[in-house]
Amino acid sequence: MNASLFQPEFAYTSAPQRIVFAPLAQNRVGLEVASLGKKRAFVVTTSEQASAGAHLHVALGDMAVGHFSGASMHTPVEVTDRALAVLNEAKADCLVAIGGGSTIGLSKALALRTGLPQVVIPTSFAGSEATPILGQTEGGRKTTLTDPRVRPLVILYDVTLVRSLPPRMVVASGMNAMAHAIEGLYARDRNPISSLMALEGIKALAAALPKLIGDAPRDSDWGEALYGAWLCGTVLGQVGMALHHKLCHALGGGFNLPHAETHAVLLPHAIAYTEAAVPDLLHPVAAIFGTATAYEGLTAFARQIGAPASLSAFGLTETDLPRALDLAMANPYWNPRSVERVGLARLLARALAGEPAQP
Ligand code: NAD
Repeated sequence: MNASLFQPEFAYTSAPQRIVFAPLAQNRVGLEVASLGKKRAFVVTTSEQASAGAHLHVALGDMAVGHFSGASMHTPVEVTDRALAVLNEAKADCLVAIGGGSTIGLSKALALRTGLPQVVIPTSFAGSEATPILGQTEGGRKTTLTDPRVRPLVILYDVTLVRSLPPRMVVASGMNAMAHAIEGLYARDRNPISSLMALEGIKALAAALPKLIGDAPRDSDWGEALYGAWLCGTVLGQVGMALHHKLCHALGGGFNLPHAETHAVLLPHAIAYTEAAVPDLLHPVAAIFGTATAYEGLTAFARQIGAPASLSAFGLTETDLPRALDLAMANPYWNPRSVERVGLARLLARALAGEPAQP
C-alpha cells in the first residue's frame, strides 16, 4: 500500500475563493458580480480575445461599464497604466477578466492599484487565477510580488472557452501547469493538502492532455484538464517554487522567451537535475507515468504529446548561454539539490540543443 502524505509538522492556510466549474459558466458572470454586491464591471482581455470580452459585455448587460482589450505577456507596467486610465474613467466597482495568464495578470495589476475585487474566467491552463502572485515587467526587468489583494475572489471555469486553444498551446500550457505541482511536491513549506492537490492535478493533466491533442476530444477531457490546471495553480499559490521556476523566470524575463513553452522545454531537465535529492517525494510522479523516475516519465510524456524540446526553437543561441547562466545563478531560489554552475551550464546547453534530460 502507498504511504499517506502525512507530515509530522505542517501549516496550511486556505484562501477565500469561490470556484465554479460548469459548461457555459461564463454566462453566470452577472450573477457572480451581483453576489459580490457589485454593479459596475470592467472587462479585461487581450486584443486576440476581444470577442470573448464582447460576449461578456452582453452577458453582463447594464452591469458592463467599460473594457480594455490590450493585455500582453509579462504584464508590462506601461500597459497597466493605460488600462488604469480607462478603468478610472469607467468608475467601475469590480473587474472581470477573461483569458490566459496575461489577461489575468493585468486584472491583478489593476486590482493591486485600485483594491477592486475580481471575477476571472481562465481560458488557458497557466493557473494564475488561483494565486496571490503578480509578475510585472518594467524597463525589461520582471519582478514578482505576492499580495492577497491580487487573488481573484471568484473563478469561473468554462470548458467551452478552452476548446479554442491551439494544440501547441494546449501542450505548453498543460506542461506549465504540471510544473507548479511537481515543484510543489518538494517545496520546503509543502503540506499534505498541497501534495494531495499536486498529485491529483498531475494525474488529471497526464490523463487529459494526450486526449486533447488527439481526434475529437470530449468536453469531459477539456474539463479534466481545467480541473488539473486549477489544482496545480492552487499549489503554486500555496507553496514556494524552486530551480525550475527560477530558470523559467530568468529566461522568460531576460530573453523574452514565451512563458508556457519555456516551462515545457525545461521541466524534464530541471527535474532530472533535482530528482536524486528527493527521490521519495517524486516517486508518486514516476508511478503516475509508469516509469522508474519522474524525469524519465516527464521526458516520455513530453515526447508523446509533442511538447517543444529545444530553447533554440524560440530564438535562444549558444552566445546567450553565459548571460542565461548568470541570470539563473543570481538570487537563486532554494532547491533540494544545491544549484551549482557547472551542472546548470550542462542543463541549459542540453535544453538549448533539444538533447534528452540527464541527471
Ligand atoms: P497568455 O495569456 O499570454 O495567452 C497567449 C495567447 O493565447 C494570447 O493571445 C491569448 O489571448 C490567447 N489565448 C488564451 N486562451 C485562449 C483560448 N482558449 N483560445 C484561443 N486563444 C487563447 O498565455 P498563458 O500561458 O496563459 O499566460 C502566460 C502569462 O501568465 C505570463 O505572463 C506568466 O508570467 C503569467 N502567469 C502568472 C502566474 C501567477 O501566478 N502570477 C501563473 C502562471 C502564469
